[in-house]
Amino acid sequence: MLYRFSDRVWYTQAEEATDRPVLGYLRGDRMALMIDAGNSARHAEQFLALLEGQGLPAPDLVALTHSHWDHCYGLCGIGAPAIACSATRRDLERDAGLVWSDDAMRGYLADGTVQAFCEEHMRVEYPDLGEICVALPQLIFERELTLDLGGRTAVLRRLTNPHTEDGVVVYLPQERVVFVGDAAYEELVGNDWIDHPDKLRTFADALRGMDFTHCFVGHGAPMTCAELFDWFDQRLSD
Ligand SMILES: [Zn+2]
Repeated sequence: MLYRFSDRVWYTQAEEATDRPVLGYLRGDRMALMIDAGNSARHAEQFLALLEGQGLPAPDLVALTHSHWDHCYGLCGIGAPAIACSATRRDLERDAGLVWSDDAMRGYLADGTVQAFCEEHMRVEYPDLGEICVALPQLIFERELTLDLGGRTAVLRRLTNPHTEDGVVVYLPQERVVFVGDAAYEELVGNDWIDHPDKLRTFADALRGMDFTHCFVGHGAPMTCAELFDWFDQRLSD
């Protein structure tokens, strides 16, 4: 299901069993941007079909929020080039070099390449692990990149955050929304979720500098700006 946020922005809901994240879409006058690529070619193709069903053009570009499989492995199902920060590209280069099989997965679980939480969801999305295909983003930036899509801009900004080293938020200033991927969440270490108050504080401060009314998080419902900062304050006061 594709939800309309405004006459320029659409998004999907996350799915728990497969760990499929929220996908976003911004329609400019000349180009359309997809935010995150989904967790498999199947997921990405379903998103493209939803766009087509609503008469929306296929994305011209894809912005990746971070390198985790559920946000990036859909890229091989999309014809458009993807944009990522250099750290995301580096992580995906590593993943693209991996062999995907039951045998190999046992090794990845043992050496920490893949966490048990991820494996559980990967097996729901990929009954045959051999179907995994990791495509690489071709457009790479370091700290910040602004895209002029015609009448609408998207600002991709790499920010210190508690979830990963490579988190990028996608800020749509005219729409006053920000897609943060998983950057607002804790870090997955083994089977534990670990919060990093210092990084969360830095992340919250960076977001406070942006003018937005709504925030899209990777695995939940959209939040108002006030709900987001209440959630951060709660975690920082624990
Ligand atoms: Zn993640």
